[in-house]
Amino acid sequence: MSSAQTPTERGYFGPFGGRFVAETLVPALEELERAYREIVPSDAFQRPLRALLADYVGRPTPLSSGERLRAELDPGGERLAALFYKREDLCHTGAHKINNALGQVLLAKMMGKTRIIAETGAGQHGVATASACAAFGLPCEVYMGELDVARQAPNVARMKMLGAKVVPVTSGSRTLKDAMNEAMRDWVTNVATTYYCVGSAAGPHPYPSLVRDLQRVIGDEARAQLLAKTGKLPDAVVACVGGGSNAIGIFAGFLDDAEVALFGVEAGGLGIDTDKHAATLTKGRVGVLHGAKSYVLCDDDGQIVEPHSISAGLDYPGVGPEHAELKRTGRATYLTATDDEALAAVKSVAEREGILLALETAHAVAALPRVLDALEARGGKRATIVVNFSGRGDKDLATLMRRLEPSEVGS
Ligand SMILES: *Cc1c(COP(=O)(O)O)cnc(C)c1O
Repeated sequence: MSSAQTPTERGYFGPFGGRFVAETLVPALEELERAYREIVPSDAFQRPLRALLADYVGRPTPLSSGERLRAELDPGGERLAALFYKREDLCHTGAHKINNALGQVLLAKMMGKTRIIAETGAGQHGVATASACAAFGLPCEVYMGELDVARQAPNVARMKMLGAKVVPVTSGSRTLKDAMNEAMRDWVTNVATTYYCVGSAAGPHPYPSLVRDLQRVIGDEARAQLLAKTGKLPDAVVACVGGGSNAIGIFAGFLDDAEVALFGVEAGGLGIDTDKHAATLTKGRVGVLHGAKSYVLCDDDGQIVEPHSISAGLDYPGVGPEHAELKRTGRATYLTATDDEALAAVKSVAEREGILLALETAHAVAALPRVLDALEARGGKRATIVVNFSGRGDKDLATLMRRLEPSEVGS
């Protein structure tokens, strides 16, 4: 396996990752690391996980192909041979996040933990964790910034329906980063009974590796499905990047295939030359956030700045350390797409393919012309591309109706 897949003993991907936490959390992380090494690979864990992914989540998700979007992107038919979509939007709860939540809650159960806590920004990870906890009969508390509680009312209602307790966080900017800090504080206090279910491939070691391993089912399935359909590997794999879990999940299936180019797409917000974006790898600096060293968005004094994206799920000022390393080594390339480009992409995919995408996912689609340029610059031939459709857009309907012109959304 390549170094990007196996961190060092201390959880480093190159210079990134590690464990930058209070002394009191170290035993909890060591206990989790033991569980990650001993329980996760075991048959006793993998067998029930596979059954749940099939019967509860609905895996394997399809790999569909899209001719109408392909034709729009490449009318002349010279650059893009085929476009495939890995359909995580068809997962139970509407996105890839359930793969991770279900795996971690199963792990918590097998570790003998009796209480689950989580942080959430847009509420998507909160809903996934609340669903998994309900299915396992475990109590669930979800920390959520007070501002996000107000902005994401439908997901707050979903979590409550699923029996979870939503705890509004009033500190700091009252958004995701504060909710993560609060969840860590809870964990320190209740570590004997409590499992902290982290929502992306970020956080202190071993979370980035654990979440990656739980999401790599996306990449493993996509690789086998494409080989079955075409007999070949893709030229490129494209995914949006918030904390980085859906991207690292699909990348993991192709990391060892040097001929497959990997592209992550960050939220460019109002533009990466403004201060309103969430393009952490593209515009951030190396720093420590939520227990790991990676790229972060901060000001000249090192203070974390509030990110902006039209898609709440990409609105995170950090990014998982494995992506930082994939950027450093050049194995993956990171691009950006703006709010307006993502909006246009949602519209375009809905009308051309009959699929209403999440605004997060739309960033990956919006960057496809730049991906084609990059492949051409590398001397590529007509490309076959797999895009990870990380989630569906029902949750974004209010934003879409507000932001698209009446003439754009029919009558
Ligand atoms: C949360 C979310 C993301 C971003 O999270 P990652 O950890 O970067 O995958 C992307 N797409 C959807 C649909 C989401 O809900």
